Amino acid sequence: MTSRHTDILRAEISALHAYHVPPATGFLKLDAMENPYDLPADLQAELGRRLASAAINRYPDPQGGGIKAGLQTAMGIPAGFDVLLGNGSDEIIQLLAMLVMKPGATLLSVEPSFVMYNMIATFCGLEYVGVPLNPADFSLDLAATLAAIDKHQPALVFLAYPNNPTGNAFDAAAIEAIIEAAPGIVVVDEAYHAFAEDSFFSRLARYPNLLVMRTLSKLGLAGLRLGFIAGAPGWITELDKLRLPYNINVLTQVATEFALEHVDILNDQAATLKVEREKLLQTLNDLPGVTAFASQANFILARVPDAPRIFNALKEKKILIKNLHGGPKVLDNCLRFTVGRPEDNAVVLAALKEICS
Ligand SMILES: *Cc1c(COP(=O)(O)O)cnc(C)c1O
Repeated sequence: MTSRHTDILRAEISALHAYHVPPATGFLKLDAMENPYDLPADLQAELGRRLASAAINRYPDPQGGGIKAGLQTAMGIPAGFDVLLGNGSDEIIQLLAMLVMKPGATLLSVEPSFVMYNMIATFCGLEYVGVPLNPADFSLDLAATLAAIDKHQPALVFLAYPNNPTGNAFDAAAIEAIIEAAPGIVVVDEAYHAFAEDSFFSRLARYPNLLVMRTLSKLGLAGLRLGFIAGAPGWITELDKLRLPYNINVLTQVATEFALEHVDILNDQAATLKVEREKLLQTLNDLPGVTAFASQANFILARVPDAPRIFNALKEKKILIKNLHGGPKVLDNCLRFTVGRPEDNAVVLAALKEICS
């Protein structure tokens, strides 16, 4: 690429860094909210048989009909609403941004939250507005959010419920007030629904501008890349026009249908992780100088005395977590721990005790 060629690039893309995934081979991997459990061996064997007979010479079912039927049953999507499947919910965020990307259109979210909302706004040339959360407890600043909605008239609002990287679920009444005030689409992103107490599925019927997005990634199928969004048929029809043909590949369709037939196993694993989460929260808070925040997700945010030092010391011990220090100021000295199996969490705690003493 010569300097003449760089002229054709968009300046806002040149200024970006690609989404960074740190190498994790040989590490206890607790940085990306993956489910640590394998499928039981008999189900692995059965899945192998199904994948072996998948028609990989053919294009996949363009609508992913088998998955949609499985999701209706496994997830309890309310009747009367349509579903669109994405290659991860990341792809669906991008489709939503493309749907509204008129010059000057705004995507609004809160800060800190899921980084892809801001990144995809940039990809699509949308204005991005991030309203700060209350720094003390990461709750919604409703007055500030409503004022920003009034001022910027966002075409699209994203609220992660529970929020990443903070782990808390925002006040549902405050989210409802935002949905009522927003002039455009409000997406409630329920990536962590399996670990949370509440869902906005039951509110779809009340709000015509509400869409509820989920992913199977955090439930235990991150490798399959399957996200979905549910909402009024009018919205889903428009989004479907932007979806690239065959976005869900044959192997993902077969494996997802199979996993949804056995969703009880994934839900049981999530229930175990919820119990582990509460134990980890308690033990983190017992460490000197550590403040761990209550979570409704499968991770815990904690403020520590010296996050870079602790992060690096854990890395030395082949434990990979997420260091949030150096990002937004409110996350100074914050680390994010994905909840692992009891034995994983014990390894982390033993290491932390040693590092902190
Ligand atoms: C992990 C995550 C996603 C992305 O999920 P994929 O389906 O794996 O693309 C979306 N939203 C939030 C809030 C997340 O934390």
